[in-house]
Amino acid sequence: MPMSKMRRQPPALSDVIIIGGGHAGSSLAACLGAAGLNVTVLERGLAKAKRDARLDGRTLALSFRTMQVLRQAGVERLIKSDACPILDIRVADQDSPSFLDFRHKEIGDDPFGWIIENNLFNRALEKRIGQMKNVRVVNGAAVKAMERDDVSARVILEDGRSFEAALVVGADGRKSLCRELAGIPVYGWSYKQTAIVCTIKHSKPHHNVAVEHFQPGGPFATLPMTKRRSSIVWTEKTAAAEALMKMDAREFTDLLQEKVRSYLGDITLERFSCALLTLPATRVPSLSPLRGERERASRAGEGGYRTRFSYPLILQHAEHYTAKRLALIGDAAHGIHPIAGQGFNLGMGDIDVLAEELVGASRLGLDLGNSDLLRRYEKRRKFDNGNMVLMTDVLDRLFSNSIAPVQAVRRFGLGVVQRLPRLRHFFMRTAMGG
Ligand SMILES: Cc1cc2nc3c(=O)[nH]c(=O)nc-3n(C[C@H](O)[C@H](O)[C@H](O)COP(=O)(O)OP(=O)(O)OC[C@H]3O[C@@H](n4cnc5c(N)ncnc54)[C@H](O)[C@@H]3O)c2cc1C
Repeated sequence: MPMSKMRRQPPALSDVIIIGGGHAGSSLAACLGAAGLNVTVLERGLAKAKRDARLDGRTLALSFRTMQVLRQAGVERLIKSDACPILDIRVADQDSPSFLDFRHKEIGDDPFGWIIENNLFNRALEKRIGQMKNVRVVNGAAVKAMERDDVSARVILEDGRSFEAALVVGADGRKSLCRELAGIPVYGWSYKQTAIVCTIKHSKPHHNVAVEHFQPGGPFATLPMTKRRSSIVWTEKTAAAEALMKMDAREFTDLLQEKVRSYLGDITLERFSCALLTLPATRVPSLSPLRGERERASRAGEGGYRTRFSYPLILQHAEHYTAKRLALIGDAAHGIHPIAGQGFNLGMGDIDVLAEELVGASRLGLDLGNSDLLRRYEKRRKFDNGNMVLMTDVLDRLFSNSIAPVQAVRRFGLGVVQRLPRLRHFFMRTAMGG
């Protein structure tokens, strides 16, 4: 081989390297790209896998504030027709006939948020980033190591390629390698609960109402979607959830039907093709919760289709969001219970603040990896996120049980919130993203 070919390639330069092209990484790339920064996104998965329809069965509740950030990045117009507005939210405690009713009209004309399918959101982000000449996405790029010094940060892939920038952003999810390589400790625990996610078509209209019903095993939520459909997030203790996952589709539908008949009418389950689940797990590592699901689907007699997906629930919070020339965002920094549908919205809060800091520094010609900037980012985000981590944890503990005195206290609490408009408005604004 000629000497020139053997020589190591110089690292590719950009302002910011984002590791992980999931929701958080791609959204940050869109925000920074729209502001003119040079960005490289390194994603170990395949672009095609992300694009494929309904790969994980999940939807996202995008809060009003999240949508504002997406508007600035030019993403909102690409998702508006697929996103269903949430106009009212109803919260009920087990079999209690009274419920908490949040109506958006009480505080203005804007919806609380929007529900969109994960894959459609991914597709829109991919499209928006694809329009930007200053954003480069490298798929099949599994990061192995990082080197950071006073001048720059270098990221090395498993295949030997390397990339250099002033700042590395770790958007690589709950099992963040960036966090691990920087030695940032993380605390957390398993909820011993599993969320089962599916999509239903129904005979009655949902009237854009999101319903959350607290049960002893965990919350049961119906979230309004476009085309007279709703997304179900049914949380149970893990053993009970496993039994639900093993049922055949008919049995599962009958149980679900009982829960929603009174307000959604007759239902049918949407079917998701299993074809992509045959991809080797190592090539699509973010799909690890789905391993074995294909076999389960065929055992359940769904003939190459799946009707539901399961996600074990954990809480996780990093002790620091930054290290030398490194910032963590999204699930790499925090993972919360989906009880309030705020996981990604917290990540969007990180993105909003980090993008503001980086764009400001870039305009002033400052080093984008400077420690003052990183300190400010951590200070502006960690406290707020910590509050949401705590709030979702307390909510789950308070509502996911049938202990009589606790039940009495929470029903009293729901009644108080329903009767006090100022308190109700506070919760409504929190749902919108503050
Ligand atoms: C059942 C359920 C329901 C939810 N509902 C809502 C909701 O309604 N609203 C809401 O706001 N949030 C919700 N969430 C939370 C939301 O889904 C997550 O917060 C969000 O998807 C996290 O995005 P992320 O980009 O931070 O992480 P991820 O989606 O995990 O993305 C990380 C990316 O990094 C890549 N990666 C990892 N390691 C490497 C590496 N070494 N090299 C290169 N790339 C790498 C992965 O391939 C992946 O693409 C829900 C979560 C669950 C489980």
